[in-house]
Amino acid sequence: MSSSRKPKTLNEEIIVCRRCPRLIKYCKTIAQEKRKSFQNWEYWGRPVPNFGDPHARVLIVGLAPAAHGANRTGRMFTGDRSGEWLYRSLHKFSFANLPHSENSEDGLILKDALITATAHCAPPDNKPTREELLKCETHLDRTFREVPFRVVIALGGIAWQATIKQLKKMDMLFENEKKFIHAGEMKLKNNCSLIGSYHPSQQNTFTGRLTEPMFDLVFEKARRILNS
Ligand code: SF4
Repeated sequence: MSSSRKPKTLNEEIIVCRRCPRLIKYCKTIAQEKRKSFQNWEYWGRPVPNFGDPHARVLIVGLAPAAHGANRTGRMFTGDRSGEWLYRSLHKFSFANLPHSENSEDGLILKDALITATAHCAPPDNKPTREELLKCETHLDRTFREVPFRVVIALGGIAWQATIKQLKKMDMLFENEKKFIHAGEMKLKNNCSLIGSYHPSQQNTFTGRLTEPMFDLVFEKARRILNS
């Protein structure tokens, strides 16, 4: 196969994307420096592709890979505390075959769920700039158009805003657009729904802003919508 062929799949396109020099540099630097406890790891250190079932009815939108989480393991929400929360809840409601996620070879399979992000590269301080988010919108747009979702779950404020923007672009919002409410369901056109959730970051889980029952409620609701 010629190395000059153009990427075809969305994930191939994401992995080779180099549109944000600051983030590409940061991901590489982190991968070289490594955290002490992960010195034996070969860090992924590039854009992290979507993870899950390409035919999913549940599309989960996160913020961005964590520097020593997905930027290390190469798989969304894998190898960090946020991922422990996410996969535990996904497993409880039969969206995942395992309740945890450690590395890309751990056998984890998502069922009827796919995880994407507003930025596919780890940003310093977990904060992509506005420009970087804008650049990564093309990947988000393609994800929304390729995945046959019925329910979208937005994790955190930035994911919520990016999701609303994308849904507007796709003319899926009704006029009575509601504000973000944790575990609140917003009805969309085409019999779809949007559910907002606080991000399962340590900032929220350590402070009690997000508890396990609160987070479970989001996935319980998604399951109920699919079953209705
Ligand atoms: S954040 Fe998105 S647009 Fe920017 S380099 Fe990474 S994959 Fe490309």
